[in-house]
Amino acid sequence: MSYQYDLFVIGAGSGGVRASRIAAGKGYKVAVAEASALGGTCVNIGCVPKKLFVYGAEYGHGFSEAEGFGWSKQEATFDWPTLRDNKTKEIERLNGIYQNMLTKAGVEIINGYAKFIDAHTVEVDGQTYTAEKILVAVGAKPYIPAIDGAELAVSSNEMFYLDKLPKKALVVGGGYIAVEFAGILNGFGVDTSLAYRGDQVLRGFDQDVRDFASNEYVKSGVDLRLNTDIQSMRLADASQADGARIVTFKDGREESFDLILYATGRVPYIDGLNLDAAGIELDKGAIKVNKNFETSTANVFALGDVINRVQLTPVAIGEAMALIQYWFEGASKDYDYDNIPTAVFSQPPIGTVGLSEQEAEARGMDFRVYQGDFRAMKHTLSGSDARCLTKLLVDNSNDKVIGCHMVGDYAGEIIQGLGIAIKAGATKADFDATVGVHPSTAEEFVTFSEGSLKKR
Ligand code: FAD
Repeated sequence: MSYQYDLFVIGAGSGGVRASRIAAGKGYKVAVAEASALGGTCVNIGCVPKKLFVYGAEYGHGFSEAEGFGWSKQEATFDWPTLRDNKTKEIERLNGIYQNMLTKAGVEIINGYAKFIDAHTVEVDGQTYTAEKILVAVGAKPYIPAIDGAELAVSSNEMFYLDKLPKKALVVGGGYIAVEFAGILNGFGVDTSLAYRGDQVLRGFDQDVRDFASNEYVKSGVDLRLNTDIQSMRLADASQADGARIVTFKDGREESFDLILYATGRVPYIDGLNLDAAGIELDKGAIKVNKNFETSTANVFALGDVINRVQLTPVAIGEAMALIQYWFEGASKDYDYDNIPTAVFSQPPIGTVGLSEQEAEARGMDFRVYQGDFRAMKHTLSGSDARCLTKLLVDNSNDKVIGCHMVGDYAGEIIQGLGIAIKAGATKADFDATVGVHPSTAEEFVTFSEGSLKKR
């Protein structure tokens, strides 16, 4: 049977764009359907605009810190529409680059929402397309629990296009998106509270990192409320839809906020895809795939956030490259999800790669921990009381470094290099034999001595 395309990709985000472009370059006839803007979550409402906002928010602290370095006090004011609109222009520029890249590679771009008709046929705006292979790369969407007044909250999607900046905001959630937005709002001068129902934010991260980072968030001005859950929300004045919101907490207290951001997780974006028509099975709400990203229907593949393994852009791209190797070289191997370096662009930022102390313990490993907590050199003059955490885990059986963690300026940048070292199997002796960059925070990782051993 002949089809219109060798490959039809649903979703032009991180994974979909990479798979379409490379497959087309290798000779496949490819089409990609995109319901929104090219580039997907990362480019439009995720990593990129968020990082631009983080840069903007850092100036909020930078002006006051500059005084100790001789700069005279400036009455700095922040104009939200300027940053928002400059960010949007940059994103539109990137959308154009994606458009050119795909077109140049020979990929046909179809604008609209795709749904399955059968295992080889999809429909977009009433038009049907057939393909030998179909790749589902539709990503994920924010999850907001169905509590009373949930419609009064916004998700991260809306944060990038707010008409005006609130005076007082409540961020609900404890994951990386919640702490990042709390830092962004706080940096812009918004009176920011972060409410999380658990004991500590950033579940899954090393416990020392969680405790240290949350303490720094509080010092930077975020009102952190742990063990706090929301019962309901309502408008303070029913005739003012964009006015204040009254939050009722589960302990009965009430408080007014101008903006409530729910950052309480993301779920695979499979609504309306009509997966049943193609016989595609789910596992806990995510598309079920085998190691070659094949769904329960042999010619349909899925990757990225919609399979809910590790929801990060470089992982979606890595999975796309693994799939390309499988299609074009017959390489059937497990994608390696170990030792993925990760950054949380909070203020201060976090960088982490490898095992946390708790994970190493749970695996029953014999290991030692080096740990340092110090004031970064910059802050000896800045007046800031911000501190920095560095932590290294070493396997006692073979001296290999099995985890690196950092909270402090540039952590996201520093962790990338440490990720290479861990991936290459570097030992503590290799770290010790590496000459430090002086003066820097990063050199802490190559100068840990017996004196830094953590008593466990
Ligand atoms: P996406 O990039 O989400 O792309 C899916 C695309 O499919 C979307 O464009 C969508 O419109 C489209 N689509 C959906 N359904 C259909 C349909 N039926 N028909 C046609 N098109 C459809 N990751 C990092 O690595 N670093 C970060 O700093 C980071 N920060 C983030 C910050 C925020 C606020 C958010 C929300 C996410 C962040 N991420 C970050 C996660 C990252 O954005 C995702 O992991 C990544 O985009 C997943 O890529 P994907 O290809 O699976 O899906």
